[in-house]
Amino acid sequence: MSATSSTVTPDQLFRREVLDLMAYSVPDSFGMAKLDAMENPYLLPQSLREEIAHIVAEASINRYPDADAGRLKESIRAVTDLDQDMGILLGNGSDEIIQLLALAVAKPGATLLSVEPSFVMYRMIAAFTGLRYVGVPLTDDFTLDLSAVLTAMRQHQPALIFLSYPNNPSGNLFDAEAISRIIESAPGLVVVDEAYHAFADASFMPMLSRYPNLLVMRTFSKLGMAGLRLGFIAGSKAWLGQLEKLRLPYNVNMLTQYVAQKLLQHHDVLLRQAEQIKHDRAWLYDRLVGLADVRPYASDANFILFRVMHADQVFKGLKDRGVLIKNLSNSHPLLLDCLRVTVGTQQENEMFIRALQESIHQFV
Ligand code: PMP
Repeated sequence: MSATSSTVTPDQLFRREVLDLMAYSVPDSFGMAKLDAMENPYLLPQSLREEIAHIVAEASINRYPDADAGRLKESIRAVTDLDQDMGILLGNGSDEIIQLLALAVAKPGATLLSVEPSFVMYRMIAAFTGLRYVGVPLTDDFTLDLSAVLTAMRQHQPALIFLSYPNNPSGNLFDAEAISRIIESAPGLVVVDEAYHAFADASFMPMLSRYPNLLVMRTFSKLGMAGLRLGFIAGSKAWLGQLEKLRLPYNVNMLTQYVAQKLLQHHDVLLRQAEQIKHDRAWLYDRLVGLADVRPYASDANFILFRVMHADQVFKGLKDRGVLIKNLSNSHPLLLDCLRVTVGTQQENEMFIRALQESIHQFV
């Protein structure tokens, strides 16, 4: 060590909010049926994979990507029923867009409000961008408690509200009327996060022109492009123009731009996969309903939340049998004994049901 090197430690230098955070954990899934992360389980048809190989081979990766990603935005418009007056901003996954929004509103004392349980990054990003965070509990069966949300809004005057629609991890769509009431009463922006839109038959996208304080966010992660990292938010250009200033240059890399553009030309392939997933979700739900001591919650997403006795041990039993799902039991009081399974291929779903039955039978 040189005489001038400092002995400063992270504890001394970093903000309390950062030191107190638990990193977003991603478990090792090597060799497992991976049903923990809401991915689309299907690969692309071989012909499309070959087209992508060609596109990647021809890409000038010695150059920076198109900074505005204009052609990709046009491709997104082509598959999204979006008014021409509305703008689009792209993110390196929609996580990045949540962070941009939080950074933009992070005045001293500003508040981000969401419901709980919901997507954990709302709370985490609020913490590390210095926002106050308010999480209004859902009801016992994960519906929106409108009067509690309205009361919390009056009390905390949130600059930013996030509503996951359908909600992760419960899988349900909140009442659309209630969401409209929240948008109408909000003192700031309301972001309807439609990450699971491909598996639901509802959207707030058509409401953008009615509500100037509404933004609608989506991701391509669940539709078969998780590895590309691409999300977008749509809304009035007045908001998005300001947010553009916070977007780091070239946040969406060249290969993502090219490949996503190609895949959006074949949107029908992705939508057919989503249809298959919806079909298999119904199969999985019926099997779960049929199991004694298992209570699944109806889902409009590509995963199903269910409650089971001894959730920690059942989770481990599944893991020992080569099936990785998500254990939410210790993450929120309303999720006690809850596990979440992503809809996989038919073979994976059958394997999961078998492993679940065996894991539960350990206890009887
Ligand atoms: N919103 C919700 C509700 C999610 O569940 C997720 C992913 N789990 C995201 C946003 C982030 O997705 P991505 O960053 O992959 O676009």
